[in-house]
Amino acid sequence: MAKKVKYVYSFGGGKAEGRADMKNLLGGKGANLAEMANLGLPVPPGFTITTEVCTYFMKYKGTYPAALKQEVENAVKAMEKVMGIKYGDPKDPLLVSCRSGSRSSMPGMMETVLNIGLTTKTIPGLVAKTGDARFVYDAYRRLITMYSDVVMEKAAGIEPKGDRGIRKQLEELMHHMKERVGAKNDVDLTAAHLEELCEQYKAKIKEVLGKPFPDDPVEQLWGGIGAVFQSWNGKRAVSYRNIEGIPHDWGTATNVQAMVFGNMGDTSATGVAFTRNPATGENKFYGEWLPNAQGEDVVAGIRTPNPLNEDTRSDGTEHLPSLERAMSRVYKEVVAIRNKLEAHYKDMQDIEFTIQDGRLWMLQTRVGKRNGRAAVRMAVDMAKQKGWKISKEEAVSRVRPDQLDELLHPILDPEAEKKAKAIAKGLPAGPGGASGKIVFTADDAVAWAERGEKVILVREETNPEDVSGMRAAQAILTARGGMTSHAALVARGWGKCCIVGAGDIHIKDKSMVVGDNAYTEGEVITLNGTKGLVYEGQLPTIIGASDKYFTEFMKMCDAVRKLGVRTNADTPADAKKALQFGAEGIGLFRTEHMFYGEGAERPLFALRKMILSSTEEERRKALEELFPYVKNDIKATLEAMDGKPVTIRLLDPPLHEFVPDSEEERQKLCQSIGISMKDFEARASLLHETNPMMGHRGVRLGITYPEVSEMQVRAILEAAAELKKAKKRPMPEIMIPVLGEAKEFAHQKEIVARVTDEVCAKYGLKKAQIPFLLGTMIEIPRACLTAGEIAEMAEFFSFGTNDLTQMTFGYSRDDVGGFVGDYIDKGILPNDPFNILDQTGVGEMVKIGIERGRATRPKLKVGICGEHGGEPSSVEFCHRVGMNYVSCSPYRVPIARLAAAQAVVKEKAKGK
Ligand code: PEP
Ligand code: MG
Repeated sequence: MAKKVKYVYSFGGGKAEGRADMKNLLGGKGANLAEMANLGLPVPPGFTITTEVCTYFMKYKGTYPAALKQEVENAVKAMEKVMGIKYGDPKDPLLVSCRSGSRSSMPGMMETVLNIGLTTKTIPGLVAKTGDARFVYDAYRRLITMYSDVVMEKAAGIEPKGDRGIRKQLEELMHHMKERVGAKNDVDLTAAHLEELCEQYKAKIKEVLGKPFPDDPVEQLWGGIGAVFQSWNGKRAVSYRNIEGIPHDWGTATNVQAMVFGNMGDTSATGVAFTRNPATGENKFYGEWLPNAQGEDVVAGIRTPNPLNEDTRSDGTEHLPSLERAMSRVYKEVVAIRNKLEAHYKDMQDIEFTIQDGRLWMLQTRVGKRNGRAAVRMAVDMAKQKGWKISKEEAVSRVRPDQLDELLHPILDPEAEKKAKAIAKGLPAGPGGASGKIVFTADDAVAWAERGEKVILVREETNPEDVSGMRAAQAILTARGGMTSHAALVARGWGKCCIVGAGDIHIKDKSMVVGDNAYTEGEVITLNGTKGLVYEGQLPTIIGASDKYFTEFMKMCDAVRKLGVRTNADTPADAKKALQFGAEGIGLFRTEHMFYGEGAERPLFALRKMILSSTEEERRKALEELFPYVKNDIKATLEAMDGKPVTIRLLDPPLHEFVPDSEEERQKLCQSIGISMKDFEARASLLHETNPMMGHRGVRLGITYPEVSEMQVRAILEAAAELKKAKKRPMPEIMIPVLGEAKEFAHQKEIVARVTDEVCAKYGLKKAQIPFLLGTMIEIPRACLTAGEIAEMAEFFSFGTNDLTQMTFGYSRDDVGGFVGDYIDKGILPNDPFNILDQTGVGEMVKIGIERGRATRPKLKVGICGEHGGEPSSVEFCHRVGMNYVSCSPYRVPIARLAAAQAVVKEKAKGK
């Protein structure tokens, strides 16, 4: 018999039906509430309606499975039993909240309704019980506001005109009421004022939405449940999922939970905390709290909250009371729970709690978001934690490759910063430094960024509607809010530079006023998100210096990974940078790069002469001129990488690229070669190719002009011989590009053999004294297919996946930009295959190449030097197919080291 599907899972009273590992079904929040209840922590009782109900609700147009009603009724009874009071009871009513909770956290993107169950019948009971009419009418006011906004307007699909949503209209009523009675703040309104306000609210709702606010607790409960499910497909939730790559078919769970109140007077409070500092990773309990408030007051960023303890006060909060001082007994309880949760989850947790009349209640725990620097530090610390610890493998899995990227991202140049004077200070919510033009709305941020401007989004505070603009901006600056405000949470998740709660700034009509100065839209400012400082104008940035945790973390990655990591570097300076980032060699030294950029004039001139030569004699003369430049460049690079392999690729440019355009350059060349301009033009036109990417390049040059290969091989081997004589350890690897046929290799191999003998004779060395390898790039599909034959001679393969992608797909590398966007938008390609290796097609070519190559030469050394060598998912692929190393640009070396370590962990987890 089919097993009955269970839709509702209860928790509370020291036990739960769910567990932490049931996130897919119960959502993160529900699964962790169950886990906390099972751990014996004080969790208000409640129940979770599964994500399966959400997907049903979406599929069947807002209806529920038939069995749900009974299951919810039973769960309400269970909750009533734990609390000892009843939902809808006029004498002593239980109130509940309805909150969303999906598998993956989507902060603030979906809806919440609190204080459900307050009706004209239950209000008197609650007033009598609490003896606090003001509290009750305040709760009722909040319920009416949230419910009308979330359930009666948004979930009902009503699109208010302009900015005139029901919430806004109710807030206006409140504002009028405050003006009428002379109240400065919300708290100055009395119970009678609030009672009257609630009546005004209800009349307004009837008028605007055409329906009365429901006065029946059961109707309210189902309204709340439906609105939470509906909010899964709300505009901002959909746009957040698109940005974060969260599948739209996951659905959210709905958590219904007994209300506890942090706003019942001075012995009540609410707080949000991280078990460690999420911005730095420091092992200090870090959080914020507000007395006499509800949770939303802390996260909404409307009041700047108080620090949790004395240890983590930041500048600017000296005058605010900490929970540690104000309620020391409860604080100790929170600390004990913090320790218990960390030891249980073995990870940093983001927790929410409420204190009702001196009694602590835990409302949430989840793995806390952290920036890259903090992630690295926590991973290192937790691998050595006293009492409990995580394994090296676990530690390397705790940092996403893109987070590591943050550590290598720009920070403000400390020298320049020392000289600059900050115009404002706020809380350091997101790392690094950034400059940009001020914009004041999320829409402007998106529009300006689309036309290529760098912008800083400046807001009073942000809300989930702003996410696209926050994403488009270089950095975010808010005037209000704390470290757990929306802006801080979102920016931290993205590792984006962000400052919140910069109280010195005031935003007025598209200008930011700081003291006597006003900064208008379009003016440039600079933020130091690590320190929370705002500067006028643009300050220079540098790449963030790596710290000791970074070094230790990279060591752990190195201990776990099997894949080697080299770099693509064309200059000794690049080589040195890459060594600092941990490169174990050079996987691609593109010889032709010495003809571009600074100091390239003379070798370029010699190269042009060589290209325009029409006889071997002319060419040999030009090559002789070129030789010392090539040799010196190679020698300096081999020396910089002493003791590490350097793969030097023979010349591989389409030749016509080097024919000069300028008249003056052309004249100079004619003179130097001794030919007329007419001759020059004739020779240049012979070099013209219709499809140069598939033309006379790579090894094909060396076949037509063996003297070109000969000169390069001589330069490499002489450089190595001279270094050898100077007691260095050069390790050159000569690489033949654009190979498609084994005989091409054989032809070049002969040249190499002859030059080796000549160089040995010249320097009086034996062959074994100039050790080098001779191998090839595999970047043409035919080379993959005939790899078996090629490997008879080649000592290594390096996959050139740029060209291999070009030729496997038949997409021109230089023209793909014109259409790849359409392919991605229309779902034909998942992403740009020149960025992320296409494992299905190009990857299959790579596998064939390796298998056939190693069938001939089992120990064949195999690497990759296309752009994919620094892209995490492609690195994982390279590990899986048994490559020896990947090679990538210097700044991506640490990312490749991490991705290679994570590939090992994933493989182990799959039980391979
Ligand atoms: C390649 O084709 O992948 C490669 C590394 O060579 P290039 O990009 O220089 O053609
Ligand atoms: Mg290539």
